[in-house]
Amino acid sequence: MDDLARFCCLNSACPDQGKRDHKNLTVIAHYGPGKTKRMLRCRTCKAHFSERKGTPLFDARLPSEKVESVFEHLAEGCGVRQTGRLCQVDRDTVARYSRLAGGHAQSLQDHLMALSPPDDRGPVR
Ligand SMILES: [Zn+2]
Repeated sequence: MDDLARFCCLNSACPDQGKRDHKNLTVIAHYGPGKTKRMLRCRTCKAHFSERKGTPLFDARLPSEKVESVFEHLAEGCGVRQTGRLCQVDRDTVARYSRLAGGHAQSLQDHLMALSPPDDRGPVR
């Protein structure tokens, strides 16, 4: 079984958006080096997306602990500059993650809980 319980539909127009373990997602393809990344499809709205897309950690160049720290500060209401200083992360980087988060600070914690750590070895069978 693919461990899809951690994922949810990312289509904001989908009634099942954000519902994890809702059984609405299926794996339609594997891609990337070694085919370790999965392309997911939502049965409800027919959207498909990468399993990493839409997560704050997508294409992250910082270590995930650092990213989590940045998001924690943003979620606590710290400004970009303050967050950068506290986390010792470049202000532009913080701004980028802040945009990635798209003001969803509330669900951010959820995402981090649900989606980390990414397992690039693929599903355990
Ligand atoms: Zn959907």
